[in-house]
Amino acid sequence: MTVPSQAEAALIETLQERLGKAHVLTAASDMESALVELRGLYRGTALAVVRPGDTQQVAFTIAQCAKRGVPVVAQGGNTGLVGGGVPFGGVVLSLARLNRVREIDPLNGTMTVEAGCVLQSVQAAAAAAGYLFPLSLASEGSCTIGGNLATNAGGTAVLRYGNTRELTLGLEVVLSDGRIWNGLKGLRKDNTGYDLRDLFIGSEGTLGIITAAVLKLSPAPKTRVTAFVGCASPGHALALFNNLRDPAGDQLTAFEYMPDFGLEIVLKHRPASVRPLAERYHSYALVELTSPRVDADLRRTLEEILASALEDGTIADAVMGDSEAQSLALWGLRENLSEVQRLEGGSIKHDVAVPVSRVAEFIEIATKACEDAMPGVRVCAFGHFGDGNIHFNLSQPLGMDKDAYLSEWARFNVIVHDIVNGMNGSIAAEHGIGLIKRDELARYKDPVALDLMRAIKRTLDPGNLLNPGKVVEIGADSPATF
Ligand code: FAD
Repeated sequence: MTVPSQAEAALIETLQERLGKAHVLTAASDMESALVELRGLYRGTALAVVRPGDTQQVAFTIAQCAKRGVPVVAQGGNTGLVGGGVPFGGVVLSLARLNRVREIDPLNGTMTVEAGCVLQSVQAAAAAAGYLFPLSLASEGSCTIGGNLATNAGGTAVLRYGNTRELTLGLEVVLSDGRIWNGLKGLRKDNTGYDLRDLFIGSEGTLGIITAAVLKLSPAPKTRVTAFVGCASPGHALALFNNLRDPAGDQLTAFEYMPDFGLEIVLKHRPASVRPLAERYHSYALVELTSPRVDADLRRTLEEILASALEDGTIADAVMGDSEAQSLALWGLRENLSEVQRLEGGSIKHDVAVPVSRVAEFIEIATKACEDAMPGVRVCAFGHFGDGNIHFNLSQPLGMDKDAYLSEWARFNVIVHDIVNGMNGSIAAEHGIGLIKRDELARYKDPVALDLMRAIKRTLDPGNLLNPGKVVEIGADSPATF
């Protein structure tokens, strides 16, 4: 353990005086969970984990850190998957105590929440008021709305409602010098110059600390129907998606994809799961339609589309959830997939997007390229097919040493990201850049865009104290990505 410098010791003392000792943690055991990335890819170090209780205390903490040149890494639920929340020295600023719902305004269709609210509690508060807050991710029981905003999180309902950015009207942000920007406006229209809100959304804690947000509420769905569909190839799944779009319109809420390998490992590691279709197929789609109308006959709409798709050979088989419990069981197959890959050994992950029209082509080309590069590698390409967003994950060949396999990550990055880039896609569709993709971003992002990003970072954080070394590299002392 390194001994804090005089300035660092003074900082801790000052913060303890203002926030109370219980909220400025310095013991190794108290800080442990804040130092590690969920998947164990990175372990960091910190002087302290600071837990302010309100926006003023966040501003005080940041101002004190700025005064002494101490870096700050914001953390919500620490569920991020790109190493963005890992500190390499300095202070971890936990937003966990900023967990109040400040206001629900039904007439405006908005709710104002603090950044540390766990996503599930935001959803619950919206539901209690008779509305839907549609952001939904498998980590919703522990991720926070501040983290969702900082990473512009996606999830399973983007197709219908958009990313976190599209669900947000206003923000409150503490800047790198400790000033508070109050942008908590619940406006649908505001063309008063540059859009500061959108600058902070997706900035992964590198431009400011988000302390509160005004979120859009949607009408709660009253009817829902879910189907699990077997297809001969990703191309067939794309054809089904295309067939659904016009007749289902904006009732089409989710169109998720998983391969046969994905379904098989879910059934293997989650024995309570039930095989949804009698036969095995190359590809599967999970389709959901919802409506805020109680009398919407979604079942008939979906049945008709699927029957016609069966008849013309677009799909091979389908099952519909006949009850809420059956729908949840079908969703469980998809949602368990992220977790069970861990049980299959090393997993090299790529979170990418291509235009929806090219998503099937991408899966096929990238699968072949990876299988050629390492015979035996088990491709698990799954995810938000209807958004063109595929989690192109590669499970290690059976019997291979895990560390030897993971050491191939950079080689697979080149293979997969070159294909994505060639399709005018994105190498970071929803989890962000953080540390793990920082150098990949430098490789693929338009150089002019990178210059602009660095200029914005230097303007808003001239001391490079907010999450230094993440997203874009400024200065020479950034941590390595691996
Ligand atoms: P953290 O992990 O604490 O932080 C993430 C980043 O945001 C860090 O860079 C941090 O410094 C910064 N940050 C956190 N809070 C603030 C703040 N208040 N102000 C400024 N910066 C801040 N992501 C998706 O997009 N879609 C998915 O479908 C999805 N599924 C997931 C499933 C599982 C099982 C897991 C474990 C993760 C999944 N994720 C997904 C990733 C993760 O849950 C999201 O990135 C989430 O938005 C992070 O929220 P958090 O509160 O945990 O943030």
